[in-house]
Amino acid sequence: MSERTLSGTGVTPRAGVGTVVWYRPEADLELPEPPAEGVDAAAERERFEAAREEARAELERERDRTAERVGEEEAAVFDAHVQFLGDPQIEEGVLAEIDGGLPAEHAVRRAFAGPIEQFEGMEGRMAERADDLRDVRDRLVRVLVGGERVNLAELPEGSVVLAERLTPSDTAQLDPDRVAGFATVTGGRTSHAAIFARSLALPAVVGVGGDLESIAEGATVVIDGDAGEVAVDPSEERREAAAGGEEVEIRHEPVSTADGAPVEVAANVGRPAELEPAVARGADGIGLFRTEFLFLDRESPPAEDEQYEAYAEALSAFPAGRVVVRTLDVGGDKPVPYLDLPESENPFLGERGIRRSLGPDAELFETQLRALLRAAGSEHGDGLAVMLPLVATIEEVEAALDALDAVAADLDDAGAEYARPEFGVMIETPAAAFMAPELVERVDFLSVGTNDLAQYVMAADRGDERVADLHDPLHPAVLRAVARTVDAAEGEECWVGMCGEMAGDPDLTELLVGLGLDELSMSAVTIPDVKANVEATDREEAAALAERALAASTKREVNQLIRRDR
Ligand code: PEP
Ligand code: MG
Repeated sequence: MSERTLSGTGVTPRAGVGTVVWYRPEADLELPEPPAEGVDAAAERERFEAAREEARAELERERDRTAERVGEEEAAVFDAHVQFLGDPQIEEGVLAEIDGGLPAEHAVRRAFAGPIEQFEGMEGRMAERADDLRDVRDRLVRVLVGGERVNLAELPEGSVVLAERLTPSDTAQLDPDRVAGFATVTGGRTSHAAIFARSLALPAVVGVGGDLESIAEGATVVIDGDAGEVAVDPSEERREAAAGGEEVEIRHEPVSTADGAPVEVAANVGRPAELEPAVARGADGIGLFRTEFLFLDRESPPAEDEQYEAYAEALSAFPAGRVVVRTLDVGGDKPVPYLDLPESENPFLGERGIRRSLGPDAELFETQLRALLRAAGSEHGDGLAVMLPLVATIEEVEAALDALDAVAADLDDAGAEYARPEFGVMIETPAAAFMAPELVERVDFLSVGTNDLAQYVMAADRGDERVADLHDPLHPAVLRAVARTVDAAEGEECWVGMCGEMAGDPDLTELLVGLGLDELSMSAVTIPDVKANVEATDREEAAALAERALAASTKREVNQLIRRDR
């Protein structure tokens, strides 16, 4: 049989081969017609209340399990589900339907329909809330009718899951030791299913469309999360490549280009549980430690000592390497109830990152700096570097340096043990890229955050699938912002790294070395490939490639230069 290929959006740079298992949870939830004579409303209200309690308990268990297996940030979605369960408007809707004569399970279906439709009509991330609501609705109905949940955690080894869509709870159940990958009809790069897939390093393709339905249960497929393809009846060659016989060797030593220039290859880490995988994949250090995990999903901010412990733990995972800790980067789109984040029409253009740290969160910033300076004075503290997010002005950098001086003076007065860590800023705004010559005079390093830089240079929301083509760092405009940044540091005592997703794409290693980056930081999965590519790169050839890319007029030309057909 010859291979047939369907295309969608690849979300993990990995491929897997396996046997198709269709997941159709909705088929288990067919309800009998409601009784014509109506229902005992009081009894149905009670059933609804009891189901809500049971659903809440389930969600809390799943939340804890996900926090442990996947991570705190991903587990937060279950908190949102608990909130939907208690939403007064939805509750009112359900009770009204019950009072109108429907059994609780039908009432839930009806009452959720409006809000789901509303979210579906919205843009970007809000549209994905519809998935969350469906998840909560189906959970409630299942609890009400006493249905068994399809157990995604116990699929046969080598299964490839195909589904219309996977909800967050579905995806959290998938066991990477058993499941070789998944593909869905709907969904984009930022859907929960995609985010979980990346955290679990599961091959996945989303948004394949209705053609996915043509694949039969039991068929053999390759899920290629890199190319964004689902191959049915794959060729022997494709199957072998996906089975992963050719895993790249893990290099635990720092690497240099073929002509001998060292390039640091570091890991991006979002929670302590990711430190060990980073070490195991051969990271030289941490190029971006997102500290949000310390602040999210709790009632009050972490105390100085708790933060100190977390930073010291990261430092001891890399006793000989550098650990770049980014100060708190919240605002707008990340919920931190105790911070009282204001509603904003344009959260990405509002008070986020360093803007909050120098404004309403100044006290938190001071505590974080104290913990960081103390960690810099701890046993492996030499490697600590502190980095500011979303810098746009020189005044911000100077104000942050003043805050750092004040904290150091306080620690001095208190006779505490501390040290001054390396100090740097992220280049995530066009303003910062333009001001790079002034920034390099004030900091020890710059790190290019291409996720935000591409969003702001191209005016394209990083979470909106419809402008995904624009939100791409390979547009020459973004490359030129990166080049400007690197050039500003030439001959200065200031190194330049990159910690946006772009740094972790092995296809781009030569280009990035050619642009002159000293450090590349990425999620641990691609570290071995990037290290291998650094070693294979000749700097002169790489510089010539970068020059051609910078002279390109379109993203298409850049893709052609790196021999990528996208
Ligand atoms: C970036 O913007 O590129 C970055 C690394 O920061 P984050 O993805 O956390 O916004
Ligand atoms: Mg950013």
